[in-house]
Amino acid sequence: MDNLYFQYTNQSLSVNLIKKAYKQMIHYCAISNPYETGGILIGDYSSNQMMANILQATPPPKNSIYAKHNFWRGCSGLQQTLDTAWKSGQYYLGEWHYHPNASAVPSNTDINQMISLSKDKKLKCPEPILIIIGGSSINLEISINVFSNNGHMVLDCVEKLK
Ligand SMILES: [Zn+2]
Repeated sequence: MDNLYFQYTNQSLSVNLIKKAYKQMIHYCAISNPYETGGILIGDYSSNQMMANILQATPPPKNSIYAKHNFWRGCSGLQQTLDTAWKSGQYYLGEWHYHPNASAVPSNTDINQMISLSKDKKLKCPEPILIIIGGSSINLEISINVFSNNGHMVLDCVEKLK
């Protein structure tokens, strides 16, 4: 795949994160530090649904609320972004957010939010992905997690390209 930056995998799903989407997240984190920030992930699946390609990471919607240890993602403008993406065969894949100067491990609140998103019929995304960027600007950490009714899986990084 062109421009692949990270590939994360477990037995049932691989997540490919392209460099552009990674750079978008890093940029929004840098301008938000020391506050949390985040947005949604947009991309597509392989035809056998075994591989998710994250092609875009959006900036925080305008009505989001930022704190040092919390982030509430707003929804202003997201439907329009998703409608535009849909025309090129891309969909909502999940969420991303930033834990400034902290671990990239999802909190209990993060886990509960993602499980409730997985049950949200309107989103049509039964296995949403959560990317968390943590650490400091000189030593970034990233975790890629997938959620479903059955709970939470952390994917292992198998490939990191420059
Ligand atoms: Zn969090």
